[in-house]
Formats: sequence, C-alpha cells, structure tokens
Amino acid sequence: MKIILANPRGFCAGVYMAIDVVDQLLDICPDETIYVYHEIVHNMHVVNRFRDRGVKFIEELSEVPNGSIVVFSAHGVSPALRAEAHERNLTAVDATCPLVTKVHNEAIRYAKAGYQILLVGHADHQEIIGTRGEAPHCTQVVECPEDIPDLVIHDPNKLVYLTQTTLSTDDANVIIAALKKAFPGLKEPPSEDICYATTNRQRAVRALAPQADLVLVVGSRNSSNSVRLTEISQNMGTPARLIDDRSELRPEWFDGIGTLLVTAGASAPEDLVQALIVDLIERFGGEVEQHDVYHEQVEFGLPGTLKEQMRKRGIDPTGRRVLRKDADQAMGAWLDRHGIAHRTVDLTVGVTK
Ligand code: SF4
Repeated sequence: MKIILANPRGFCAGVYMAIDVVDQLLDICPDETIYVYHEIVHNMHVVNRFRDRGVKFIEELSEVPNGSIVVFSAHGVSPALRAEAHERNLTAVDATCPLVTKVHNEAIRYAKAGYQILLVGHADHQEIIGTRGEAPHCTQVVECPEDIPDLVIHDPNKLVYLTQTTLSTDDANVIIAALKKAFPGLKEPPSEDICYATTNRQRAVRALAPQADLVLVVGSRNSSNSVRLTEISQNMGTPARLIDDRSELRPEWFDGIGTLLVTAGASAPEDLVQALIVDLIERFGGEVEQHDVYHEQVEFGLPGTLKEQMRKRGIDPTGRRVLRKDADQAMGAWLDRHGIAHRTVDLTVGVTK
C-alpha cells in the first residue's frame, strides 16, 4: 500500500502556543492546581495527557476555587467570562489563539461603529460563543443559508459578516454567497477570518485526496477543523475516516485500498500520526511519501498573561519561545528509526509566514 502523508497536517501555531502555556504553568507553579476552562484544544489525547499531570478541565468557573489559576483555552472566551474570573479573584492566563482574538477585535470594532454582525459558524462551538459574547446585542449566528430568512435586520447597509476560524472554506463560501445575495450591501471583514492553518490543511486534502482510495484524518470528533477535513475528502468522492488514534482502525476499511492519504487536524499530536504509520506499514507493508503542498512558518509568542505570572515568580520570560517541532523532520527521523522507506514529493504552492 502507498501511504501519502499530507503536509501541512497537525499542530498549528495557535495549538503549539496553547499547549505550551499549560506546560509552562505546570513547570513554574509545581505546587498549584492548574484549571483550564474548556478543553485547551479539541483533542482527547492532549486533554488526557494534561489530566494525567494533574490539570483540571472545567466547564464552569464556579468549579475553580477563589484565587486559583485558570487558563482560557485556544478557542477564546467572552468578556462576561473574563469579568466573572476577575470578580472571583482568579488568576486568568489567556491561551486564546491570536487569530481568534483578531475576530473578537473585529466584532468589537464593528459593534462600536453601529453595525449588525452576521457571525458565520457553529452556534454551539466554543469559539462562536466567545466571539458572539463580544457584542451579543448586535450579533446573529448563521450556520447555513436556511438561517437567512430568520435574520432580523435593521439596516441592510450597516451589516458585516465575520466567520469562525475553522470552517470549511467551501461551506463558508456557499453561506457568504447566499448572504451577499440577500443583502447586497453586506460588508466583508478586513481580512480573511478562516485561519491559515485551516485553509492550508484543507488545500492539502483537496490537492491529494483525488489520488487516494481512502483518507484517514487523525483528530477528535469535537475538533471542527478535523471534521471539516473529513467532509472535504468525502465531498471530493474519496471516502474518509476520522480517528482519534490507530486503535480505531478496522481491517475491513483497507480491502482493495492501493493508496491511502493520511492527514491530521490542527489539534492532533504528531506522535499519534507516527504510531499510525508504523502500525499501517507493519500490517500492510508498502512505502511512505510525504507530499508538501504548503509550508508554514507561523509562530506566536507567549501570551502577556503568562509572562506576567513568570515575572511574579522571579522568572525572566525574555527569550522564552513557544516550544514547537517541525512535523516533517520529526516524521522523517521516525521513519528512518523504524527502517521504513520514505521520500518527499515537493508540490509546494505557497508559504505562510
Ligand atoms: S486552527 Fe487556526 S484559529 Fe485555531 S488555534 Fe490553530 S491557528 Fe488558531
């Protein structure tokens, strides 16, 4: 069997940053319990690994004892939740992805300018709950074109749309086209809200899925961008399975499969992909090709609230960077260590810096 590994796949800059925030807090506060509001990123393994190290994940701030440290997850939170944390005298450390914060800031700006905001995304997703909370009085969530007739619009010329960062670009385009048709005066956000990591992972699947008989997406079921990768492949006519790890593989999926594409959502750890590849090669034999479609060189700095906690504890944050690994190089070394033949196919169409 030929296994194609999509690049980019797996962790994005926001996920590296959010995970590093909790790692560093565990390091600098060894005697305190670290609470995290919501899953730090939407991945079962990441969350369970932190649970094993004593981190408590909560869905209500009332579960956090007064004065404790609470981390806001990569998906962001509403101002009401920040205020609640402040009132409760909690030490809030903010691991919100800067690209989510960017959408929050757009919502604040347009609300102040008197716009109604049409927020395209999934109403129950943590990110949408947080963004909507910036301007709840003037924000309506649009999940699909069928929602459009129910929108309450005061002035069709004072209307802007914003989007969740992890949508399928195909689905978003359909909804945005329908919104523009219904409201020709609709304003666009100043820059694309769907983030670079979501876009690039989807680009890679669109480019590579047609060559494959099956696509495996490593990611959790509550990971929006992982689910979207699965759907994009299926929409292109290539069957796709979303799996948390190799334990979910079923032998019958591989009957008649000559070429398999493997990718991973932005919150899925690379070691799960590595273990999956070794398992597949042991079962079915074959070769591995890493196909580079887009290069990413995006890095985020440590959040100010974490640096503040470091300084309070006598640690100088100057020069500390978010810990991250190059998935490609790590995979190459891993395959070499396991004696698995591999090569890289350069199909690069762009670089995100
Ligand atoms: S998927 Fe995009 S918005 Fe979400 S954490 Fe990663 S870079 Fe940030």
